[in-house]
Amino acid sequence: MTRDTYFVSLLLFAVGAPLATAQERPVSLTGVIDFHAHAGPDSRPRSLNDIEAARLAMQAGLRGIVLKNHFTMTADRAELAMAQVAGLEIFGGVALNRAVGGINPEAVRQMVAFDGGRGRVVWLPTFDSEFYVTRAAGAESFVRVVQDGAPVPALLEVFGLVAERDLVLAMGHSSPEEVLLLIPAAKRMGVRHILVTHVFGQDATPDQMRRMASLGVVMELDWLAVYSGNVSIADYAGAIRTLGAEHFLISSDFGQAGNPDHATGLTAFIRALREAGVSDAEIDLMARLNPARLLGLD
Ligand SMILES: [Zn+2]
Repeated sequence: MTRDTYFVSLLLFAVGAPLATAQERPVSLTGVIDFHAHAGPDSRPRSLNDIEAARLAMQAGLRGIVLKNHFTMTADRAELAMAQVAGLEIFGGVALNRAVGGINPEAVRQMVAFDGGRGRVVWLPTFDSEFYVTRAAGAESFVRVVQDGAPVPALLEVFGLVAERDLVLAMGHSSPEEVLLLIPAAKRMGVRHILVTHVFGQDATPDQMRRMASLGVVMELDWLAVYSGNVSIADYAGAIRTLGAEHFLISSDFGQAGNPDHATGLTAFIRALREAGVSDAEIDLMARLNPARLLGLD
C-alpha cells in the first residue's frame, strides 16, 4: 500500500465507521431460540447434521434450537446432540406425516417417553397434509386432520396427549381454515401452547391472521420464505405492526443443502427486521421470549 492509498483508506474508514455502526449494529443471538432447524441425517438434502448444527448454534451464542424432521421424530436426536454439545438447549418433536402413521397417538406417546425428555413439539402433517398435497400436482395420498367440519377422532386423542404433557402443538402445513377450526378444539382439550407453522407460507389472509391472533396463539415467521423470495420482509413487518409482536415468533427454517447455517439465517433475519423498522423489544419477544415460553423455559 502506498502512502496515499493508506491515507485514503484511513479517511474512508473514519467516514464509514459511524454509518456502519448505525445501520449494522452487531446482532446478538444470546437468548435466541431457533424453533425451526432442519439438519441431517434426512431423506431430503441437508447442509449439515444435527451435531454440526448444534455446534454452530452454540458457537453463535444461541440459547436453543428445535430440530425438525418431516419423517422421523427428533427427540432422540436432540438428546444425542445435547450430549455432544454443551451449553445449548436442544429440543425435538414429531411430525405426524405418513412415515409415523399419520395422526398416530402412539407416535406421540413414544416420542415423549424417550430418554432425556427432549421431545416437546407435535407438528400436524406437513408434506402429507391435505392442503399441501392437493396444492402440489401429482400427489394423491394425504393425512386428513379435519373431516366433515370436525377434527378426526385420532387427532382429539393427540390433543389430549399434548395437553397432558404440556407440549407445543404446531399446525404443520394445515390450511388456514383448518387451523382456525383446530385451535378452539385443541384449547377445549386443554392444549396451552399452539404455534401456527410459517403462517405466511400457508397463505393465511390478514383477516385469518387477525383471527388466529385473537385466539391467543403464536404464529411463526420464518426466514427461509424471505430468503427464497416468497414473502417480503415488509409483509412481516406490517403484520407485526398490525397484530403485535406478542403473537409471533421468528425462526430460520434453514438446513437445506446450499443454504447458510441457522445462526447465519437468524442474524440476517434480525438485521432485516430492524431495517424494516421493527424494534429491539419486538425482536426480543419474537426471538427469545415467545419461543422460551412455548418450550416451558424461563
Ligand atoms: Zn421447515
